[in-house]
Amino acid sequence: MNENDTEKMYILLSNEYEPTSNPENADLILINTCSVREKPEHKVYSEVGRYKELKRKKPDLIIGITGCVAQQEGENLIKRLPYVDLVLGTQGFYFIRDILKEFQQKRKPIVFVELKPDFKPPLLIRENLTLFDQKKVTAFVTIMQGCDNFCTYCIVPYVRGREISRPPKDILREIEELVKKGVREVTLLGQNVNSYGLKERNYPTFPELLNMVSQIDGLWRIRFTTNHPKDFSDKLIETIATNPKLCKHIHLPLQAGSNKILKKMNRKYTKEEYLEKVEKLKKAVPDIAITSDIIVGFPEETEKDFEETLDMLKKVRYHEIFSFKYSDRPFTAAKNLKDKVPEEEKEKRLKKLHEEQQKITQEIYNSYIDKVVEILVEGPSPKNPNMLTGRTTTNVVVNFKSPRLDIKGALVNVKITEAGKHSLKGEYLEILKI
Ligand code: SAH
Ligand code: SF4
Repeated sequence: MNENDTEKMYILLSNEYEPTSNPENADLILINTCSVREKPEHKVYSEVGRYKELKRKKPDLIIGITGCVAQQEGENLIKRLPYVDLVLGTQGFYFIRDILKEFQQKRKPIVFVELKPDFKPPLLIRENLTLFDQKKVTAFVTIMQGCDNFCTYCIVPYVRGREISRPPKDILREIEELVKKGVREVTLLGQNVNSYGLKERNYPTFPELLNMVSQIDGLWRIRFTTNHPKDFSDKLIETIATNPKLCKHIHLPLQAGSNKILKKMNRKYTKEEYLEKVEKLKKAVPDIAITSDIIVGFPEETEKDFEETLDMLKKVRYHEIFSFKYSDRPFTAAKNLKDKVPEEEKEKRLKKLHEEQQKITQEIYNSYIDKVVEILVEGPSPKNPNMLTGRTTTNVVVNFKSPRLDIKGALVNVKITEAGKHSLKGEYLEILKI
């Protein structure tokens, strides 16, 4: 989502500025930030600190902090980092053009952290696809902003505001423009895509939106994230099973395997309900890949609660998980819970979780060997430019040898020959579509 917001800022500024990879050449530096966990928030201060000296040498340089940490800290950032000129929150950055004009006149720090529940994000069409790479074949498209769920550990509803769905016509137009520029796969983004449109009159539901997007000619693959298990519907399962453009991958964050902890997290589902949805999904789409987010060491999580999370890994058999040690976030309800899990214990649980998942991932990856899979070629492999890279419909990275290296954007068949820890290796067989 942040990557997508950064692209939007780039589009907004592309008439006045051009990108540079060297900060020494920059007239404007914007640091787009994340505050979902403690660690990325801390990184912001060291990142911004790197530009202090640059600003001293070049006083006309404009430095701005944007995104969630800007939203969270507002004025405090100017107090703590007096060489910062702009603090623009998660809605504020959309006004960057006017704000820069105002700044150039007054030369005084500007803080814009208003959050309006009826905010309408403008439709921004990319002239160039991304900052430096003009020939991207995959792209993110935000379909909704904010969140109304208030999971007790989570800062998102406070820094991104109430849930707002974008009009379907804007979403379709944005994707059509991307496809014209060569994009073949889009990932629709929202904190809870399953509640898309529900607050608006006459908006399609999420499964209906998927079917509308899939009508776009030249678009081959559709992904979406994130799914909230409480709103993950039978209708969506049926849509995944029947619409061939939808990738066979679902990110369905469990967060924790104990009903006690799920309740304290305010997730609004039990592990039994979660498993029931997973079973239905596997039955309707037998080769589906499921991935998840897991938090270890939520306040009051006992060893026994954690064992239940481990047990869920075995039952669901995720392709992959993204796991995090719980960290206190400002404004959240969990911050005030008393019985915090010690850091060493969180560390231990995280390690155990990784080990357990690594075994499962490896077994699943091994089962791909000798299979023929469809890959959308994203470009040369980052580690070996003589190989190509892309992903399966199940979102597994595949690097492969190919007689032709100029087939970025093609859909090809690849035979899997080897399974690594984080990716697969294969051999090119044939082009399916180009
Ligand atoms: N809307 C998504 C999650 C967005 S935040 C959903 O509901 O699934 C991304 C992930 O960060 C979450 O899934 C959670 O696993 C993690 N996370 C959020 N707050 C956290 C905190 N305080 N400590 C540790 N991890 C956290
Ligand atoms: Fe955060 Fe929960 Fe909303 Fe996801 S659904 S963004 S975890 S509050």
